[in-house]
Amino acid sequence: MNFVDVAVPSPLRSTFTYKNNTGKNLIGRRVLVEFGRRKLIGVVTADRDDYKGEYKIKDILQTLDHYPTFNNTQLLTIKKISDHYMHPIGVVLEAFLPTMLRKTKTQLDLSKYSSGVCDLDINDSNFHELTADQESCLKKIKGNDRESLLFGVTSSGKTEIYKHYIKSLLQEGKSALVLVPEIFLTPQIHDDFKKNFNNSVYIHHSGLTELQRFKIWLAAQDNKPKIIIGTRSAIFLPIKNLGAIIFDEEHDQSYKQQDGFRYDARTLAKIIYGNDVKIIYSSATPSLNTLQSSKDNVIERLSLKKRISKSKMPKIEVHPINKKNLIGGISDELIDEIKKNDEMGNQTLILLNRRGYAPVFLCNSCGWIAKSNCCDTSLVLHQGVRRLKCHRCESAWGIPECCPSCGASDFSYKGIGTQQVEEAIKNILPKAEVIRIDRDSVSGKARRDKSSLMIKDIEPKIFVGTQLLAKGHDFKKITLIIILNLDFGLFGADIHLQEQTAQLLIQVAGRAGRTGMDNKVYLQTRVADHPMFNLIKTGDYELVANEILKERKKLDLSPYIDVVYLKAEDANQARLRKFLVEAKKYLSKEHLEVYGPFEAPITKVGYKHRMFCIIQSSKKEIMLKALDDFVSHSDKQKKEISNWVVDIDPINAS
Ligand SMILES: [Zn+2]
Ligand SMILES: [Zn+2]
Repeated sequence: MNFVDVAVPSPLRSTFTYKNNTGKNLIGRRVLVEFGRRKLIGVVTADRDDYKGEYKIKDILQTLDHYPTFNNTQLLTIKKISDHYMHPIGVVLEAFLPTMLRKTKTQLDLSKYSSGVCDLDINDSNFHELTADQESCLKKIKGNDRESLLFGVTSSGKTEIYKHYIKSLLQEGKSALVLVPEIFLTPQIHDDFKKNFNNSVYIHHSGLTELQRFKIWLAAQDNKPKIIIGTRSAIFLPIKNLGAIIFDEEHDQSYKQQDGFRYDARTLAKIIYGNDVKIIYSSATPSLNTLQSSKDNVIERLSLKKRISKSKMPKIEVHPINKKNLIGGISDELIDEIKKNDEMGNQTLILLNRRGYAPVFLCNSCGWIAKSNCCDTSLVLHQGVRRLKCHRCESAWGIPECCPSCGASDFSYKGIGTQQVEEAIKNILPKAEVIRIDRDSVSGKARRDKSSLMIKDIEPKIFVGTQLLAKGHDFKKITLIIILNLDFGLFGADIHLQEQTAQLLIQVAGRAGRTGMDNKVYLQTRVADHPMFNLIKTGDYELVANEILKERKKLDLSPYIDVVYLKAEDANQARLRKFLVEAKKYLSKEHLEVYGPFEAPITKVGYKHRMFCIIQSSKKEIMLKALDDFVSHSDKQKKEISNWVVDIDPINAS
C-alpha cells in the first residue's frame, strides 16, 4: 500500500503512480494530485507495494473521500468501458462523477446535502387500461430478461406499456431508468409520469444545476424504488436495485455522444448492467442496427401495428416543386392548404431541418460568403438578433457594415431557415398564431416550459420548426404537415444521414391525425420521381428500412460489416495528415480495410482541422485487436498529436 495508481482526466491512456502516505487503503477514493504543473482530481484504481519505474514519485496532496466513491465492481466496469472505447480511463471515470465531485470538495463538505427520497406512492387510478395488443407486449416483456425492441407505429401506446411494466417493477422494490433523447422533452414526460408515480419520479439532464444533479446522484443510491428520467448522461448514475432501462425514441442520434468520449448509451447500458437489467428499446422507427438485431433474434421484437383509439395513420403525398413559385420556401398550392387548414381551426406543422434565417450570407458585388474562422462552415444569418452565427460552436458575429473582401455594402442571403418560414407565414396570415420551435427557441427552462405548453394547446396554430418537432411530442390537433427540403438527406451519399432522414420523415408524419381527424402530409421535393418515394408514401417505416438495409447489404456497409472511424484533429493540417497516414500504414493488415485519410464533413471546428480514416472488417475481433495494438503503440511513441479518438459504432464522420 505504499504506492497507488491514480486515474486522472488526461488524454493519456494510462494511470499514474503516486506515493500513498496515508497508510490506508485508498482504492475507489478521490484524491487530489499534482499532474505536470496542474492539480487534478483523480480516483485511485489500484495499490502496489513497490515501484520500479524511473520517474520520481510524488505524494498524494489530499484524500477527498473517507469511504470509496467507487467500489471494486464499479472500477472493473469502468476499466471495461475504457477498454471497449479505447478511451483514457481517467476521462471515462470522470463521466461517472457528478460535477460537484469533480471539484476539491471532501465528502465531509458534501455531507450536508441529502437526497430526500420519498416512499413509493403509485396512483393506480391514473393508468389506462391496456388493449389486447398492449397486454400481449407487456406479458412478453415480463416473460424473460432479454433485450426487447418495442416497435410500434406512432400513437400505438408504447409509453403506456412500459409505464405498466415499471409499476410492477417498483412494486417489487426495483427502480427504473427511462432515457429520453431531448432535454426539451423532459417537462412533458415528467408531468406525465408524475400523474402515475407522484414524487417517485426524478429528472436528470445537463440543464439542471450541479447541486440538483448531485442530489439525484445521491437519490440514485438510495434503496427505495424510484424512476429516473434523463437524457444520455443519466446512464452514468449509480442506480441501486435497477430493474429496467427504457430507451424512448431508441433511434435518436442523441444517445451517442458526438465528441470527446464518444460513448453510445445503448452500449454502455449493456456493459454496465449485463443481463441483470431488462433493456427495452422503444421506437416507431428503430435504428437499422437494432432492427437488424431483432431480425437476427438477438433482441426480442414486440410489434404494435395499429394506433390506439380513433386516430388515423397519416396519408403522405409527394409534392413536386420543380419550376414552381415558392414563398418562404413553400409552393403556392401548399400555402393555400395552410390557409384553408387555419381557417378550419386546425393546426399545421411545417418542418424544415435548418434553424436561423438563411444559411448563406454573401456579398452581391464580389461573391464573398460569410464563413467563420472557428469552424469551416458558412455562417447562418439570424435576422431577429441581427447576427451571423456558427451553428457548430455557437460563436456569433455582428453583420458587417461592408464586405471584408471588396468593401461594398450590398449583401444578400441564400437558402432558407426556420426564421424565414416563420416570417413568410406571419406575412401571409397575420392573424394566425405562428410558433417556431428549434434549438434557438427552446434554450433555457422558461422557454422549454412555454413551448411545451404550446404543443399541448388545441387552439389553431402553425408550428414551424426543425427535427425538435418530431421528437415524441403529443400534438393535439395537427391535421396538415408540410415537410421541406429533405431531398439531400434522403438521396445524398451519407448513409447515416439517409437513415436519420427516413426516421425523421416517418416521425414527423406521425404527429398528424392523433385525434381521428382526416390529415394530410406533403413532402415537398425536387426529385419526385425517385423510386424511394413509393415506399415512403406508404408511411410504413419497415418497408423503407428494409430497402435501405438491402442496399447496405449489397454494398457491404454497416450493420453487415463492422466499421470504426479513427478521428483526429489538430491546428496543423500537415501534422494531422501525417498522423493518419502513419496510422493507416500501421493498421493495413490482413482482413482489415483502411480508407482515407479524408477531411471531415466540417473540415475545421474550433480552429482545429478534422480528418478521419475508415477502418472496416468482417472479422470484428481482428479489427479491435489491431486497433488496440495501434492505441498502445501510439501512446508509447508519444505522437505529436494527442487529440484523436477511435469512434466505435460511429453515426457520422464529423
Ligand atoms: Zn464583396
Ligand atoms: Zn464555430
